Amino acid sequence: MKDCPDALTWQAVLDGEENDPALLEHLAGCPACRASYREISAAAGLAGALATEATLPPAVARRILRQAKPFPAGLVAALLFCLLAASAALLQPGGLSWWFSVGVVRMSSLILDGLLGAILLLQSLDPAMILLAALLLAGLEILVLHKLKVTEG
Ligand SMILES: [Zn+2]
Repeated sequence: MKDCPDALTWQAVLDGEENDPALLEHLAGCPACRASYREISAAAGLAGALATEATLPPAVARRILRQAKPFPAGLVAALLFCLLAASAALLQPGGLSWWFSVGVVRMSSLILDGLLGAILLLQSLDPAMILLAALLLAGLEILVLHKLKVTEG
């Protein structure tokens, strides 16, 4: 091993998460790593000595949760949206209405294109293929529902 392992590696060795023999061999031959390991070991010992049996009573968590007021994130988001929309309307009059009209037209055209594409696809397909696709979709739905049931249950 050419490079010295970092402190996290020595911490893992100390915790028993890492037990590569090359690391132990390096530790035996490298005074700098031995010093680092001893330092980490001493710090872990001090941290262990600080551990106490005392715990908070369960009522403390309930009291804290009762006193905490939920942050109105939805209201803040709505206010920000209104503020940004108002600033966009004030900075460029007509720009917002143009954006809304173009957005509505674009969305409508996307929906119509999708519907027309589906109709054309269905007209060009054999009825047996449509039945097969419906069976595949039903099978997929059954599979997903079964998977969700397994996840919930
Ligand atoms: Zn080393």
